Amino acid sequence: MNMADMEPSTTLRGRWMDSEPMARHVSWRAGGAARRAYLPADLADLAAMMRTLNPGADVLFVGLGSNLLIRDAGFRGTVVFTHSVLKAIALAASTEIHVQAGVAAPKLARFAAMHDLAGAEFLAGIPGTVGGALAMNAGCYGGETWRVVRSVTTVGRDGVVRERSADDFDIGYRHVAPRPLPGRCDEWFVAARFGFAIGDGPAARARIKDLLARRIASQPLDQPNAGSVFRNPPGDHAARLIEACGLKGRRIGGAMISTRHANFIVNAGGASAADIERLIVLAQSEVRIRFGIALECEVRIYGDQP
Ligand SMILES: Cc1cc2nc3c(=O)[nH]c(=O)nc-3n(C[C@H](O)[C@H](O)[C@H](O)COP(=O)(O)OP(=O)(O)OC[C@H]3O[C@@H](n4cnc5c(N)ncnc54)[C@H](O)[C@@H]3O)c2cc1C
Repeated sequence: MNMADMEPSTTLRGRWMDSEPMARHVSWRAGGAARRAYLPADLADLAAMMRTLNPGADVLFVGLGSNLLIRDAGFRGTVVFTHSVLKAIALAASTEIHVQAGVAAPKLARFAAMHDLAGAEFLAGIPGTVGGALAMNAGCYGGETWRVVRSVTTVGRDGVVRERSADDFDIGYRHVAPRPLPGRCDEWFVAARFGFAIGDGPAARARIKDLLARRIASQPLDQPNAGSVFRNPPGDHAARLIEACGLKGRRIGGAMISTRHANFIVNAGGASAADIERLIVLAQSEVRIRFGIALECEVRIYGDQP
């Protein structure tokens, strides 16, 4: 571990990992290593660890890595894992659920259904954490994360845990950015309070089943992928544009544009992050040439260019 990023004499209860291969932690099963990664023991330990970081250190929170690519040359900063540690979930009031950021989004959907609440079903098909859903404003089938958020809890680079309202963020389609507030430092999500409608458990479970069946029918879930690679441009679908360019099935190295869903890139075997990124650039370039539309990446790419 590079001690330059840390102040000495802090007792932490979590686990540090050096040169952690991130292919193990991202759903594409490809890419480079994080120089170091931290698995906190709990929220208090995470806050304490944040206080040890030097102000300029690069920090990347990682949930289930289902929207993430770390370049082959690796990520030079500190990765923080939330999944399997920030895992509390509880009914906070009759229609409110308080959930920590490391809980899987499908678990929140099932928990809501179990308590006869409606409006969380869309989360069942999003294979990430609550923290990732908050960071991405993840959504599908008409549902969107921030529409059901009542408040969030963040941890700052200063190690302070804060309650925030949705008004403290600029929220849009797959877009969430902190609003500039006096003295605000970098912050990451550690929990949220969601509000749902009173519903009916069996109906919610039936809807979850239906949404999952629709996904199985349309997405290449048998090969490592990161869901939709590009945001849909206004009034159109990235998949339609890529398919119209004849790119379904196009391969670069071990990466391939899915033959089933053109907005998915799959790891067809041994793909590197560079293979995936080259395919992303190829799709963007062909769609720009043919339609004059600039496709924007929905997946998040970090790390050094090789
Ligand atoms: C098969 C498949 C289907 C998918 N379908 C959908 C879909 O229908 N709709 C949709 O919106 N997405 C979909 N996705 C994409 C992905 O599941 C979502 O974006 C999800 O919300 C990412 O959560 P994660 O925990 O995996 O985040 P990660 O991939 O780990 O991280 C994604 C981004 O969020 C940041 N982040 C993660 N945790 C935190 C935190 N606690 N605080 C601050 N930032 C954080 C990361 O730094 C990174 O920038 C799909 C992915 C797959 C593989």
